[in-house]
Amino acid sequence: MDSAVVVGAGVLGACVSHHLARAGVRVVVVEEGVRPAGGTSGATFSTDVTHLKTPYTYYRLNRQGAEEHRLLSETLDGPAWRHPAPLVQWADGDAAHRALRERALRAMGWGHDCRFAAPSVLRELAPAVDPAACAADEVVVYDSAAWFDAPRFVRTLLDAAGRHGAEAHYGVAVTGLTRAGGRVTGVVAVARSWSADVVVNCAGPGADRIASFAGVRLPLRRVPGLVTETDPLPGTPLTAIVAAPDIDLRPTPGGGVLALSWDVDARLDGADATDGAPRELHRRAGAVLPGLARTRIEDARIGVRPVPRDGLPLVGAMPRAPGLYHLVSHSAVTLAPVLGRLAAREITTGRPATELAPYRPDRAVPGGVQDENLRAMDRRRPAASP
Ligand SMILES: Cc1cc2nc3c(=O)[nH]c(=O)nc-3n(C[C@H](O)[C@H](O)[C@H](O)COP(=O)(O)OP(=O)(O)OC[C@H]3O[C@@H](n4cnc5c(N)ncnc54)[C@H](O)[C@@H]3O)c2cc1C
Repeated sequence: MDSAVVVGAGVLGACVSHHLARAGVRVVVVEEGVRPAGGTSGATFSTDVTHLKTPYTYYRLNRQGAEEHRLLSETLDGPAWRHPAPLVQWADGDAAHRALRERALRAMGWGHDCRFAAPSVLRELAPAVDPAACAADEVVVYDSAAWFDAPRFVRTLLDAAGRHGAEAHYGVAVTGLTRAGGRVTGVVAVARSWSADVVVNCAGPGADRIASFAGVRLPLRRVPGLVTETDPLPGTPLTAIVAAPDIDLRPTPGGGVLALSWDVDARLDGADATDGAPRELHRRAGAVLPGLARTRIEDARIGVRPVPRDGLPLVGAMPRAPGLYHLVSHSAVTLAPVLGRLAAREITTGRPATELAPYRPDRAVPGGVQDENLRAMDRRRPAASP
């Protein structure tokens, strides 16, 4: 295995390119956007979501991903893209609180760093939050959580791959695949083509289109999500990740606040980031962080989550299209370090990784979503879009 073409310069493309290039593979990254992380990885909430994941094997994989972020950030770029911060979460109403407790107890049972606390803990962990915004008697604290500057993560990994000889081509859309004897042997773009021993499909929400060029289908749906980013919060900064009922908040690298709401996302279909949704998100965020009244929305981005139908990653080649290796996942910011490493090892050694066995793209995909935060999303969406 000497050469690889990686389609897509998001978190997954960057991680697998880094590991392949380090292993001595000649890597060419082909990206239709004009810069790295121009797709979903540039419009994401990008926190460590390990605590939400079931079943246990998938939880373990996410935990490994979060741990490998720490190791990678220590070896590559200091702590620049990984920002440790406690996650404080509370719910409205008995049923929602019971669900929160159950999840926390499950996480504790799995050895996750998690505790119950009185709401007064917000004064210490997130003093910018209005105490009146939390009507619950109890909050859940995940002390070892983190948020990630995903675009910086992508740039750092691609730069590291470049130091091992990887080339990246931006503004180039892959429009077809070349094949010989049934095997995928390269990619075709307008006026250009590249041959390789393997093509790695890291095209995120565009991954099923790449698969279709080889005559195979990926069980994938696209779920839009909106994030708003403010200019710096005046006075007390936000020092925690906050998961309040119907609004999630986290700090940004520039001292502002990033906001996301599954409720707002559920009504996004067809909307764009200039409709009323960003203002609605900012209003909800301001009810938790009063200081936001003195900020303005600096940016509003809609990202498209690439969501495999059962919520679990799609990793590996399909027998009907050898030479085309798929690497597609929701929650891929958390998972990218471990998925990129394991995928590169499989590709270079030809030995299947047991950790990836549950995630083969040609597995039977049941109707029900296994990923807990996607189940929450589906409950809110009137009809889950295909
Ligand atoms: C609102 C929102 C919140 C989220 N929150 C979290 C979170 O808290 N934690 C978490 O872990 N995950 C989260 N996610 C999910 C996570 O962001 C995605 O799973 C991840 O960014 C996907 O990365 P990727 O590399 O697979 O895809 P992308 O980042 O989309 O990269 C794929 C790239 O492929 C390129 N491409 C596509 N087609 C072609 C083609 N034909 N030719 C060339 N290039 C092509 C695209 O331009 C794109 O740059 C969230 C997502 C959204 C939208």
